[in-house]
Amino acid sequence: MKADLHCHSHFSDGSLSPTELLALAHKAGITDLALTDHDTLDGLPEARLAANQMGINLINGIELSCTWDKQLIHVVGLNVDTNNRVLKAGVVQNKQRRVDRAEAMFEDFEQHDISLRESVTDLIGGRGVPTRPHFAQALVDQGYAKDKKQAFKRYLVRGKPGYIPMLWPDVEQIGSWITSAGGIGVLAHPNRYKFTRTKLSRLLNDMLKAGIQGIEVSTSTTDKQQSAMLADLATQFGLYSSIGSDFHSTDQPWARLGGAADLSKELNPVWSGFG
Ligand code: AMP
Ligand code: MN
Ligand code: MN
Ligand code: MN
Repeated sequence: MKADLHCHSHFSDGSLSPTELLALAHKAGITDLALTDHDTLDGLPEARLAANQMGINLINGIELSCTWDKQLIHVVGLNVDTNNRVLKAGVVQNKQRRVDRAEAMFEDFEQHDISLRESVTDLIGGRGVPTRPHFAQALVDQGYAKDKKQAFKRYLVRGKPGYIPMLWPDVEQIGSWITSAGGIGVLAHPNRYKFTRTKLSRLLNDMLKAGIQGIEVSTSTTDKQQSAMLADLATQFGLYSSIGSDFHSTDQPWARLGGAADLSKELNPVWSGFG
């Protein structure tokens, strides 16, 4: 078994269609894949068709934006029932927040004499949800930055043009959406928040109270030492452990599909909780 339970398609900020993604997963020898687009389930039907053709076990997933202690965190919902009403209503809410934020971002950029409306709309192509990477790409395409990384340095972040502060649903709400849909919630890329262990523990406590029972222990950007620390926390809190590359596109070699290291054997893998 080779699992990758965190990746994106062009229904959010990934570059591949679900069909192309599943073909790449097949090439990478992945047996179990969760598509986890930001705040949308819309890529899953196409992904399921492709997964059936490739003989890959597709897990219904989503990456939900959440505010905790005034900060943005990401929670991946795995093995969710995509027909569940509570989850569907929650997803509608988060999508609407994205659409409203995009409008505010367009207006903020226009105040700086930068017009991104057309490029961003073209990039989304009527499919997915608007994300900051769409804006970053549009900034690159129009010559405001040499690459997306630079776009995220000069724009889109706190204190820079195009930054719109967001209040996403709290951990309790996100937890209820995922558990209502029979899924398992997993804290995404815990190393990326740069929290101390104490703060991370506080977050995990709050997550557990909200029914979010998992943590990504192995990601593309966790080194051995970080994974060991996260494994330690998983054990201490009795959490399910997950593995996810956070793949977005083939031009990001630091996050290859299937590129996260295997989970160590003593951990309780999240798929053991899939009913
Ligand atoms: P959003 O959810 O629309 O606010 O966009 C967040 C996404 O932007 C993340 O999931 C990453 O894929 C991407 N992202 C965030 N920061 C950066 C960065 N510094 N460089 C490139 N991509 C980034
Ligand atoms: Mn992303
Ligand atoms: Mn994320
Ligand atoms: Mn992600």
